[in-house]
Amino acid sequence: MSIKHSVKRDRQKIGRETPRRAGERPCTARKLCVRCSMIKVVQYRFKAFRQAFGRNPLAHEALFFTANSSVPKQAAKAQVMAQLAQAADATGVALPPLLKFLGMAEAPKAIGAAR
Ligand SMILES: [Zn+2]
Repeated sequence: MSIKHSVKRDRQKIGRETPRRAGERPCTARKLCVRCSMIKVVQYRFKAFRQAFGRNPLAHEALFFTANSSVPKQAAKAQVMAQLAQAADATGVALPPLLKFLGMAEAPKAIGAAR
């Protein structure tokens, strides 16, 4: 799984605010942009994977895996949603932008709801 942060570094000078693109949230330590939020969630799931299987996941292995399985198996969508929500909660990132980013949003009206 590779998620790259594509914000251009040359624009992120100290003492200057990161320029905003339409529809994109600014990236600050308190309110991370969706890519940084995703990285935090992925890191959290890496840890969960290590706890479950005693090793790091391989590139093709699911970070959202079924519970109580001796080998990593891709979880069903409902379980992925639950694991995402739990990871977002544990890492303190907002869930709706993540769901939108992943194309998993169910109700478009809920996107951007205050948290
Ligand atoms: Zn960011």
